[in-house]
Amino acid sequence: MIIDAHVHLLPRKVLRDRTPFCKSDQPFGSIYSTEKARIVSGDEIIAYMDDSGINRAIVFGFPWEDRDLVKENNDEIWSFHQSHAERIIPFAVLSSDLGEPTYKEAERTLEGGFAGLGELAVYHRGWSRIDLDALYPIIRLAAMKTVPVLIHVNEPVGHNYPGKIPVDFSGLLQVISDNPDVDFILAHFGGGVFIYSLMPEIRSALARTYIDTAASPFLYDAKIYDVACSIMGSDKILFGSDFPLLPLVRYLKDFDKAGIHGNVREDILGGNVNRLLAGKFQ
Ligand SMILES: [Zn+2]
Repeated sequence: MIIDAHVHLLPRKVLRDRTPFCKSDQPFGSIYSTEKARIVSGDEIIAYMDDSGINRAIVFGFPWEDRDLVKENNDEIWSFHQSHAERIIPFAVLSSDLGEPTYKEAERTLEGGFAGLGELAVYHRGWSRIDLDALYPIIRLAAMKTVPVLIHVNEPVGHNYPGKIPVDFSGLLQVISDNPDVDFILAHFGGGVFIYSLMPEIRSALARTYIDTAASPFLYDAKIYDVACSIMGSDKILFGSDFPLLPLVRYLKDFDKAGIHGNVREDILGGNVNRLLAGKFQ
């Protein structure tokens, strides 16, 4: 079973014409003003899954500043899930404008049956301690509903690219350790923060934290798989493509290079996330 744990579906009206949204939503514009940043339809996601032999995918939108657009995005994700109930696992995005109305959207979507929250991101200003602190009520809600929380995290060093933000690692680790009953998924190999789980106190804080592989062929040498398996354990790594950014095949090449085969490969490609979501959408 192959499950892609990181796929984006944006609202249909954004797919039709992204120009006004590039202007009205600065973080969106900073990533999507180039046509190289692809936007796809639900049908194209299904075609990608069929072509790649992907059984199921976790699909979510973009953390729009405009809360109405967040709601519209989530509603379209939900109807995509409804038309492909066996294959599409819906996660709810939330506005980067964290506050009471955003909490209400988290409540609305989780009560409606969404399987998780994410990918949460604040692309314009980055994850500061203030923004991370503002996540607490939402995370407590996820704990009550026993759903995972997927957070965009990127590496604090190296080349710059659209969507790369500053991340307060100690603030992030504080949020995680203050919520030990929540499953966190840190996107993009957690920006490398998992390395600190070689420290015993961080290891116990990250006991229920997973990292996904999204965009890694653009970021890391294939050796990252070996390093992450050795430090975090192969049971904590989830294949996520960031489609339409990259397809599964690019990741399989890195798996081959890194010598990721057999059970470990199966776990990363779907077994781990399948166990994580056990009882929901199975
Ligand atoms: Zn991301």
